[in-house]
Amino acid sequence: MRILVSGGAGFIGSHIVEAYRSLGHELAILDNFSTGLRENVHPDAKLYEVDLTDQSAVERAVREFEPELINHQAAHLSVPESVKKPQFNATVNILGFLNLMEAARRSVKRVIIASTGGALYGDTDQVPTPETHPTLPVSPYGVTKLTAEQYLHFYHTEYPEINWVALRYSNVYGPRQNPKGETGVIAVFLERMMTGQAATIYGDGLQTRDYVFVEDVARAHVAALDKGNGAYNIGTGQETNVKEIYAFLQKATDLIQEAQFGPARPGEQKRSALDCARAKTELDWEPMIELKEGVQRTVDWYKNRKS
Ligand code: NAD
Repeated sequence: MRILVSGGAGFIGSHIVEAYRSLGHELAILDNFSTGLRENVHPDAKLYEVDLTDQSAVERAVREFEPELINHQAAHLSVPESVKKPQFNATVNILGFLNLMEAARRSVKRVIIASTGGALYGDTDQVPTPETHPTLPVSPYGVTKLTAEQYLHFYHTEYPEINWVALRYSNVYGPRQNPKGETGVIAVFLERMMTGQAATIYGDGLQTRDYVFVEDVARAHVAALDKGNGAYNIGTGQETNVKEIYAFLQKATDLIQEAQFGPARPGEQKRSALDCARAKTELDWEPMIELKEGVQRTVDWYKNRKS
């Protein structure tokens, strides 16, 4: 199948490209390298160095490659920046997405997009949180992710031949994650620990998240190639707090340096984990990599990259 992966030079997108390529699919990557890296571009994939917000360049790329399936990972994904610049965030995440959809809607039969669990459900007493939980995003970033899902509902209604799946990730971690982003606490801590700097835990460190290994996420994207319809949580259902993450990393790196503590970040969610029963039933997917193994593999990748 001809598959175009937007954001395919990024952390998660590059693992999806790898997984699809290993199944023999024909791949194209559309990326503007704003956070993605050239070294992440798969050698067998056709590259379109295009900004999603450039409507005519997106149209040219789609017309040339004629994808049968679009996998959309590209996004402006910083929550604090989305609060400061909601117009820019919406331009990339909504208008950019619509550029892709409008260019592709005549040829494409299926669309799979990256969505988010935490930013859609917000603070909740229902942990792990199922897809049926109300979606009331409290950041512009969350609003754009939900809007993209709703546009897909519109596209399927208007053009019933277009089917869609949105994968609502929990906190994804693993090799190639950018330590400069503020989302990946594992990548951020690891970068600091491995360069001899103290990592900072904000607040009491007891805030929990659901950490899912990037290869498990890529496997969910493989499952969604021909299964599923609508939105699915992709996580582990397990809560791990920040202090525990730090301890896992200390063990995997053999570094004994203690973390420093900083003030709690305003508005930070206390608990988060996703109920992934729907993905298990309908996509026949469940995570396979335990946190201990995933952290070790991330540390090993980091060490090899630096050497
Ligand atoms: P990433 O920054 O590594 O990847 C994003 C990619 O999109 C990059 O290669 C970047 O260059 C590209 N891109 C950004 N803006 C673009 C534009 N205007 N035009 C073309 N390309 C553009 O981030 P990631 O962690 O791999 O995230 C992938 C997707 O997963 C995003 O949609 C994100 O919102 C979603 N997501 C990630 C997490 C997580 O824990 N990492 C959690 C929930 C959802």
